Amino acid sequence: MSFEGLPKGSGDKKRSFLESIYLWEVLRGLGVTAGHLVRNILHTDDMPTMQYPEEKRVYGGRFRGRHRLMKREDGSPKCVACQMCSTYCPADCITIVGGEHPDPKIEKYPVSFEIDLLRCVYCGLCEEACPCDAIRLDTGIYEIAADSREKFVVDKDFLLTNDTDGTF
Ligand code: SF4
Ligand code: SF4
Repeated sequence: MSFEGLPKGSGDKKRSFLESIYLWEVLRGLGVTAGHLVRNILHTDDMPTMQYPEEKRVYGGRFRGRHRLMKREDGSPKCVACQMCSTYCPADCITIVGGEHPDPKIEKYPVSFEIDLLRCVYCGLCEEACPCDAIRLDTGIYEIAADSREKFVVDKDFLLTNDTDGTF
């Protein structure tokens, strides 16, 4: 293959002494950085950076936050442990153990109801699959932080009172 007639690459460019030791380019780069720094200090309102956690992003009404379990009037979970949500869950992160409900009008209730928030993909399929509106992702809580993996597996009591600021 012949390279004749093709423009020469930048590697062939003759560099000045300052360019060859990169000093001028380093100073130019620092000048650009300093310019941005001064501009940002003088115009903090225009900066795209959000001062989290003092400032929090406002999401749209359809945003799916962390789950919650809905309650009946007496405070017990509306869930009837039908397993529809755990069956539909694509991340296989819902574990429910059902038991006989003492009230004969209600067939079952969740003895335990756990969601592994580290596996959840917040798709909302559990909410859509539920036949009795017992689980929702409408808390708007998007902050999820804990200091061990085990704490991300949240239980029934947590889901029934899911109003923390996201740290648990
Ligand atoms: S939001 Fe999606 S991934 Fe998360 S628990 Fe519900 S069905 Fe599973
Ligand atoms: S689909 Fe609804 S009622 Fe059925 S187990 Fe899940 S949360 Fe409970």
